[in-house]
Amino acid sequence: LKRAKQTDRIEIYEPEAAMLSDNRFGLETELRNAIEEDRLHLAFQPLIELASGKVAGFEALARWDNSEGKSVPPTEFIPIAEDSGLIVPLGQRVISKAAAVLADWDRQNGAPVDCYFSVNVSAIQLVRDDIAAVVRQALAAHEIGGERLMIELTESAIIGDPDLALSVLSELKALDTRVAMDDFGTGYSNLAYLQRLPIDVLKIDRSFVEHMVDDRDKVAIVRTIQSLAEVLGMKTTAEGVETADQARLLSALGCDFGQGFLFARPMEGKAALDYWRQSLVRPIF
Ligand code: C2E
Ligand code: MG
Ligand code: MG
Ligand code: MG
Repeated sequence: LKRAKQTDRIEIYEPEAAMLSDNRFGLETELRNAIEEDRLHLAFQPLIELASGKVAGFEALARWDNSEGKSVPPTEFIPIAEDSGLIVPLGQRVISKAAAVLADWDRQNGAPVDCYFSVNVSAIQLVRDDIAAVVRQALAAHEIGGERLMIELTESAIIGDPDLALSVLSELKALDTRVAMDDFGTGYSNLAYLQRLPIDVLKIDRSFVEHMVDDRDKVAIVRTIQSLAEVLGMKTTAEGVETADQARLLSALGCDFGQGFLFARPMEGKAALDYWRQSLVRPIF
């Protein structure tokens, strides 16, 4: 009996770290194949103009179903892509796919769809790739204007190399492509950089929106970000809007756009285009 128990234990005590890194390596290999075989796709979540209730654009979010058909969340595969360098080809696909879908929407609509796609770019892509060239190529290949794309960067992307960030952002500006600062308020914001950089939108992080209705400190933070944006001539988008109370409060504080489950979860392309069409008939908010 004792022996049997010990045998059991040997199985259980497989070094956890080794198992984790094995799993990670397995995922990395799978992800590499998925990128090569172009099996990643995009989900689209609407960005709503709070004053009008209109759809201003959609954030295009990477989605990956692994070989077992299970959806792996981006919070899991994006860090792996960043660590392995796969983020470069992944990011290129995301930008070119976003441009392709937008061109396809325009065709289906018979006229340009009056909205933009916002695409996430991580700090590593900024350093390892020529993002402005990737955007320029995607725009040219699908014959869409640069104002149809927005690039979302996090604070860390800028803090890492502010001079590089300035030159990339200036190139994007020259293409008429806008830039949003993602998850704003969670990083090491440097107000001097913020003023120097051509940033169009501050995306107020979900953590400040989450409890704002009954947390005066959260309201104070949102108010402060809003005033900062106004002084710097930037717009604001609140992330993670889940309730109508939050949306109303954000709107009252002057926040320009909202994104969150209240309006819609990220959707596949066809559903997103239908959502946009519906919004023309009836404002979302
Ligand atoms: P993010 O850029 O801040 O994107 C917003 C995330 O918040 C999305 O998660 C979205 O589904 C989620 N979200 C939206 N509204 C709500 C809400 O009301 N409540 C809650 N709880 N969550 C909400 P998702 O799609 O899982 O993406 C997570 C993160 O992964 C993104 O955060 C972004 O940092 C990263 N990511 C996704 N796609 C890409 C990509 O193509 N490239 C890069 N570099 N990063 C990406
Ligand atoms: Mg984002
Ligand atoms: Mg965000
Ligand atoms: Mg966030």
